[in-house]
Amino acid sequence: MAENSLSSRLQMAMRRLTGRGILTEKDIDEMMREVRLSLLEADVNFKVVKQFIANIKEQAVGEKILKGLNPGQQVVKIVHDELKRVMGEDAEGINYASSGITTIMTIGLQGSGKTTAIGKLGVYIRKTEKKNVMFIAADVYRPAAIEQLVTIGKQVGIEVYEEGLKDARDIVTNGLKYAKENKYNCVIIDTAGRLHIDEKMMSELVDVKAIANPNEILLTVDAMTGQDAANIAKSFHEQLNATGAILTKLDGDTRGGAALSIKEVSGIPIKFASSGEHMDTFELFHPERMASRILG
Ligand code: GDP
Repeated sequence: MAENSLSSRLQMAMRRLTGRGILTEKDIDEMMREVRLSLLEADVNFKVVKQFIANIKEQAVGEKILKGLNPGQQVVKIVHDELKRVMGEDAEGINYASSGITTIMTIGLQGSGKTTAIGKLGVYIRKTEKKNVMFIAADVYRPAAIEQLVTIGKQVGIEVYEEGLKDARDIVTNGLKYAKENKYNCVIIDTAGRLHIDEKMMSELVDVKAIANPNEILLTVDAMTGQDAANIAKSFHEQLNATGAILTKLDGDTRGGAALSIKEVSGIPIKFASSGEHMDTFELFHPERMASRILG
């Protein structure tokens, strides 16, 4: 057990308490301090922590000590179960179109790992659904973004439809037509993501959404950005109604508090976890695993 894990912290806190049959409010307060610190260290948004603690406290007070568990272990269990509950059921993955082309629009800030995630998602869909996947390069503000998608497309053997730096709306219209003519049945669209969210970019994304009428709008969020991740997700979600998030860079040393914050602040379900630069390190998001990771 790591020294700073929540379990070991709670063991320490509980040493000061006498063995009783139920958890009293005072015991709980003592333990909640540790839970609070632990979540903040895992980079969970502070407002989310506050709400979370209030929920946990309500559940824990008056709780009978379960046989075989000491009070510290019991609180860890309550925290773990609540983390899992808040982050949602096991992810369902992509909602595919029942016929015709499944269209997936990806959104996210530059640097969030969007292009890499598109490559991985394409590979994942090809492998799990045997679909014929195509990418559309509609991030028209940076020539490098198009080049990068083309490079990833080559790497994974997926065709990239691109028209250079023309209007994103036209590219998406033409790209979808091309996909239909060429018998593709899954299209993933890369869109612009500036360093900061701005109105022009947002209105372009809203137009692209109207044109593509996507089955999914997936937001890539860098797990390493911790607290900020939730606010970024919220801004995108307010304008575009994302259907899911892809949490990227989980191979970093982050404890993953972003996952909890995103779900709580924006309400976007986290669908996928991406962890590394290899194209096969991409999987459905598992709240259970993330809960354990956040607890350290
Ligand atoms: P975009 O600007 O949002 O399209 O982001 P990119 O896909 O270009 O990624 C930005 C940087 O993060 C690049 O250097 C990627 O190699 C790196 N990156 C992307 N995904 C991951 C990941 O899951 N783990 C790690 N360690 N690096 C990643």
